[in-house]
Amino acid sequence: EEVNRQGLRDKINLKKMIFGSERSSDAMRRRIKELLNLEDMFDIPGMTELYGPGTGLDCAYHQGIHYWADYYILEILNPETLKPVAEGEIGEMVVTTLKKEAAPLIRYRTRDLTRLIPGQCPCGSILPRHDRLLGRSDDMIIFRAVNIYPGQIDHILSGIKKIGSEYQIILERKEDGRDYMTVKVERQQGIGQDQNAALSQIIADEIKKQIMVSAGTVEIVDYGSLPRSERKSKRVFDRRA
Ligand SMILES: [Zn+2]
Repeated sequence: EEVNRQGLRDKINLKKMIFGSERSSDAMRRRIKELLNLEDMFDIPGMTELYGPGTGLDCAYHQGIHYWADYYILEILNPETLKPVAEGEIGEMVVTTLKKEAAPLIRYRTRDLTRLIPGQCPCGSILPRHDRLLGRSDDMIIFRAVNIYPGQIDHILSGIKKIGSEYQIILERKEDGRDYMTVKVERQQGIGQDQNAALSQIIADEIKKQIMVSAGTVEIVDYGSLPRSERKSKRVFDRRA
């Protein structure tokens, strides 16, 4: 957005980007790719405690992140019970380093959520894969007895057209004692307000279908009206007392 605002787009001739930002949504990545006219964009997660940036990298097939299994052991555990989750289920990444000296990590809880991707990647690499980081275990929401990770909402929204990359999830407990969720989503730039009702319905339906909870209210707001931050935008506001 800043590149466009400053009119720098024609001066930047970038083809491939390795993009490391744990909180970036699929829609944000797609938008950066479009804005900069990139051929391809790769996802690189990283953690200071774990050999610094670059704990893995996705390949041209973009079907998960190949992680350096020869440098660390990755376990995916249920953040509440600390027991391993079934293969392919979401849980917290817990790492044990194999080569790190001076400050090795032994079953270190990263608080990052993801899932292992079973099977071999079509690129042929034998390095195993995990999914994109799907949020933080501290951010897990328990809403009407369902565990929800903000990354799941992000994933759903990224599959819907005409909406932007910014969203907020607001949780409230009303007088009837029940919990209610409001999801605020920005329209994409150039999409008119007349689309609000239709977009809101599509989002509510998808959330219900994929997470099995009723979102309550889906509010469509103007493009640019939700706050953006340099690093991590706060997206979940839990106002339940
Ligand atoms: Zn691959």
